[in-house]
Amino acid sequence: MNDKNCLFCKIISGGIPSAKVYEDEKMLVFKDIAPKAKVHLLAIPKTHFSLLSDMDAGSAEAVKHILTKIPEIAKENGCANGYRLIVNQGDDAGQEVKHLHFHILGGEKLNLF
Ligand code: 5GP
Ligand code: ZN
Repeated sequence: MNDKNCLFCKIISGGIPSAKVYEDEKMLVFKDIAPKAKVHLLAIPKTHFSLLSDMDAGSAEAVKHILTKIPEIAKENGCANGYRLIVNQGDDAGQEVKHLHFHILGGEKLNLF
């Protein structure tokens, strides 16, 4: 189920510490260690899968759950005025950690890109 070599699986298991802001049975949200905005959170499924493009019917349920929860989590963590969601898919996008994660960026007016 989880990948013993995966950094984010280690964060889920508690093997690597993180600043958690939300957790339930399907997902975890924690602060990015190198924030790119005043608020920079990472929302991840508790079940390991590498890429958004690997999504199947089972993992789609996890993605649906995460996307349903993000609005209230963002609001409670300083992003009531808006936020940006980013998924880096694969090498050209610079995906470093091959465990699906949604970046939640906000807490300030973000630059357009
Ligand atoms: P990616 O480039 O794969 O989309 O994003 C990976 C993110 O994970 C980066 O923003 C990076 O700062 C963050 N990150 C890498 N290692 C750690 C860690 O050990 N703890 C936390 N909280 N974030 C990490
Ligand atoms: Zn993983």
